[in-house]
Amino acid sequence: MARLLLIEDDPAIRATLLRALRERGHAVAASPAAMEGLQTALAEKPDLIVLDLGLPDLDGRELLRMLRAVSRVPVIIATARDEETEMVRLLDAGADDYVVKPFTAAQLDARIRAVLRRGTSAEESPTITVGNLRIDPGARTVNLDGNAVELTPREFDLLHHLALRPGQVVTKRELLSEVWQVPYGSTDKTVDVHLSWLRRKLGETAQQPRYLHTVRGVGVKLSEPSS
Ligand code: CA
Repeated sequence: MARLLLIEDDPAIRATLLRALRERGHAVAASPAAMEGLQTALAEKPDLIVLDLGLPDLDGRELLRMLRAVSRVPVIIATARDEETEMVRLLDAGADDYVVKPFTAAQLDARIRAVLRRGTSAEESPTITVGNLRIDPGARTVNLDGNAVELTPREFDLLHHLALRPGQVVTKRELLSEVWQVPYGSTDKTVDVHLSWLRRKLGETAQQPRYLHTVRGVGVKLSEPSS
């Protein structure tokens, strides 16, 4: 038995799958919309999410992107679109598997079991090293020059997100949407404030950066100190 979250706006499909998956012994929660689904996912921490692509408030692909910024929960995409390139893109974007509509509950259940089996034997997310900065996403710990750095969960998520693409500028808008889950972020000071806290903990300043480099008007990047 697994704890599942079904994000699907079609009431008939939702009801059918809810009943069928519960009959197969799973505990199933359901959301009819993307943002509500995201909130439920973060609050309930399900074992696996079944995600419909065509949702009323946000495209399922966008939701997958936001989810992947904060969680490694397995995701199976349920879609009416079966173009191969689309599926490859979704798998690249972090989906674990997909089913093409119409599918039966038995087919979906088989995929769910396969993905969960894979998950239990999957390796932990690897430690990221940038210069003397080591970020362990599994343990959520950060080490700088051999010393542990105490970060808040948000500071960790911010640093981790930047560390996924070292040397590349990430826009503040992207950070707002992926770390804070603000889908249409206003240009507020949230990112700047957290960046300045993070800098202090890493022992650097905006004027004398080592790892965190602001690119004015564009965003910020994490890179190895040049010295
Ligand atoms: Ca739909």
